[in-house]
Amino acid sequence: MIRKVRNHLNPEEGLVFEISSPGKKAYQLPDLDVPAVDPAQALGPANVRREIEHFPEISEVETIRHFTRLSAQNYAIDFGCYPLGSCTMKYNPRVNELVARTEGLAWAHPYQPEALAQGCLEVIDVLERYLCEVTGMDAVSLQPAAGAHGEWTGIMLVRALHESRGNPRKKILVPDSAHGTNPATAAMCGYDVESIKSNDRGLIDLEAVARAANEDVAAMMITNPNTLGIFEENIDKAAAILHEKGAMVYMDGANMNALVGISRPGDFGVDVMHLNLHKTFSTPHGGGGPGAGPVAVRSHLEPFLPIPRVKRNGAALAFDYDRPQSIGKVRAFYGNFGVLVRALAYTLAHGGPGLRNATMDAILNANYVRTRLQDYYDMPYDSPSMHECVFSDDRQSAKGVKTGDIAKRLIDYGFHPYTVSFPLIVHGALMIEPTETEPKQELDLLADALIDIAREIDDDPNLVKTAPHGTRVSRVDEVTAARKPILRWRP
Ligand SMILES: *Cc1c(COP(=O)(O)O)cnc(C)c1O
Repeated sequence: MIRKVRNHLNPEEGLVFEISSPGKKAYQLPDLDVPAVDPAQALGPANVRREIEHFPEISEVETIRHFTRLSAQNYAIDFGCYPLGSCTMKYNPRVNELVARTEGLAWAHPYQPEALAQGCLEVIDVLERYLCEVTGMDAVSLQPAAGAHGEWTGIMLVRALHESRGNPRKKILVPDSAHGTNPATAAMCGYDVESIKSNDRGLIDLEAVARAANEDVAAMMITNPNTLGIFEENIDKAAAILHEKGAMVYMDGANMNALVGISRPGDFGVDVMHLNLHKTFSTPHGGGGPGAGPVAVRSHLEPFLPIPRVKRNGAALAFDYDRPQSIGKVRAFYGNFGVLVRALAYTLAHGGPGLRNATMDAILNANYVRTRLQDYYDMPYDSPSMHECVFSDDRQSAKGVKTGDIAKRLIDYGFHPYTVSFPLIVHGALMIEPTETEPKQELDLLADALIDIAREIDDDPNLVKTAPHGTRVSRVDEVTAARKPILRWRP
């Protein structure tokens, strides 16, 4: 009998239920040195589940191997370049993890008395001050748990400010190049959304802003650099137009990794913004898990920031809850503290010049990839790129191959796909963000792969249309998977 050969990098891995066999277990406990108690008696029968149906029973080594093999099926930044535009999938330096595991920080309890948590409060205080310095803003709250949550918090601050002046106003202006979270945020905060068309260079159209700006507008949300990877060079002029009508400028600072150390939103008219620590400051992207999307404001919005605020009381730091105009709490305790520690470690490890260098390298890398690819892929907006570049599939779709097909083929070349079909103002977008952490060799491999794929499309479009070919599972029906997921295993 020939045994099926298993390639450890691309294993056929069954479900954990399928390798289960009754009586196996993955733990060893010492014999009891106290009398045994019947859990049903101790907790009451209603609180004890007698049996878990089909609960997998496997040994320790099987458990370890099962999950290690599964982990190898997942692409990760630790394997190679992860050019997912807008998401800033940079390598997270291990020093962050080392610092986050420091005993006093890792084991701190949120209910620890303030007197015994001075180090933790110091982390919060110092990080807030550094982020003020980086953004040119006056105050920062580290509470929001993600970028979108930071947006929501920021627009609630805008609302609170307008309400304090007697009228919350009705509308939020959002450019048509905006990230989807911007209009969603505006709607969640009870505002109507008015879309503002970009001009033919992919930038905010000042005349359109002037036409839309009036006393009903609470704020305009501007992503800068925008989702085309282009710096909004007229943001200060747009801000002046909006401020004239008493409207605020919200900057979506998710892409601040293209500005840090070079220019500061506080210097070009921004009233409120958020940062994505998991993008710019190299904390883990949590797959929906704990993150941080700090919100930064100019002083007129500071009274409304979420409680508590960290405040200095003589030599000691303390939480201040006595802030009558605050919008309240937006997160339990003070947000995801472990993430804040990592961001501070990253900031301190780089220092000011290092942060600036990271920005310069991010811009250099994006422009390098752009230059290598622009003879092969169309680029509808060719203003200078910042941290990412956006192509369209116009040339390839003439042969029936779409951006999604090219992305699937890129998997065969050993890369995670770029961002597909976003931003929406580029038809069939390929959005590539290499980040500063990629060496030139890796960028060349990525560019070579995309150039090869462009040539394959000329020779044999079907090869690309049916990709990926080298993965354990080829194309899946993504719509059905999303609409009718099968989340339960039945024997
Ligand atoms: C990533 C991103 C967001 C949302 O951030 P999350 O942390 O995913 O909620 C918002 N705007 C822009 C421009 C982004 O790139």
